[in-house]
Amino acid sequence: MNNVLPWHDSLWQHIQRRWQQNRLPHALLLCGPPGMGKALFAQRLTETLLCEKSPLEGILGPPCGHCKPCHLLSVETHPDLFKVQPAEPGKQIPIDQIRSLIQFCTLTANYGRYQIAIINPAQAMNRNAANSLLKLLEEPPPNTLIMLVTHQPMALPATILSRCQRLDFSQQESTVTQAWLQSKISSQLNAQLLLKLSAQAPLAALALAETDGMTKRRELFDSLTQLPSGKNDPIRVAESWAKLEAAQVLQWMLSWTMDIIRYATTAQTQHLVNQDRIEPLQHLATQLDLHSLFDLLDLQREAYRLVTGNANVKPQGLLESIAIAWVKLGTLSVNP
Ligand SMILES: [Zn+2]
Repeated sequence: MNNVLPWHDSLWQHIQRRWQQNRLPHALLLCGPPGMGKALFAQRLTETLLCEKSPLEGILGPPCGHCKPCHLLSVETHPDLFKVQPAEPGKQIPIDQIRSLIQFCTLTANYGRYQIAIINPAQAMNRNAANSLLKLLEEPPPNTLIMLVTHQPMALPATILSRCQRLDFSQQESTVTQAWLQSKISSQLNAQLLLKLSAQAPLAALALAETDGMTKRRELFDSLTQLPSGKNDPIRVAESWAKLEAAQVLQWMLSWTMDIIRYATTAQTQHLVNQDRIEPLQHLATQLDLHSLFDLLDLQREAYRLVTGNANVKPQGLLESIAIAWVKLGTLSVNP
């Protein structure tokens, strides 16, 4: 097997079957939450298709790692691979980059195999860029493979989606991902909990385990959940949050708020995501006003949308209004 991540197996076999039947699609849409290894999959497939020793005996991969194409890929100068990405994270992909891609696709493969393009993240294409790509997808040159990598497929035009074969990374056997993760982390850590906290994405869960993510999460949780009691200054608290990565901060806040609402509406704990914080979440659910919690959920969702959708947004102001809303929540509490 060529792929190193065990939850990629079935998708890899699917591609291998298509390839064996000489029906490799011209365009693939690799979608699923961040941390599933979609870009790694695209990279492995590229290495396999471009290696001159691979494929062997009808099996896709693994790449030999020694031939010229393998070497060129390792130093990122292979002429038959074209990567399209924003100039800076969070920026758009403008039409010029897609024009260059179209130009690339008119060339013949230097090494006589495939011309491969990877667009990541594909949802960063602006409207003109997407329209331009559509024309290429409508009349793909032979021996071309275009891979669109995205965790927000719905942000792409339906016309583009309909011209790509979809590889969905979101549905994974939890036994496979859990076993893999547990083998990578200290036995003191709980793989199941880490996966739950990371939308079941194994690489995101591993990053959480390997960094001080869990400590930051605990500090954030404490500072947030103390706000309704009125003991902390919301502006100071927001200032400390702004030092962390805003998208991650908001993701955690959303997860806690949803857990509080879940418990407030069902009085059951087994469906809560934050299994290590059940008691304080239960306590808040009995104290806080449900309608205001839903308003707060909307406020946080909107902030998340702004922070992840636009690189120019300054998160501090958004975090301040969220902190103030949490303080207000305390003044509206059910049992003051
Ligand atoms: Zn090779």
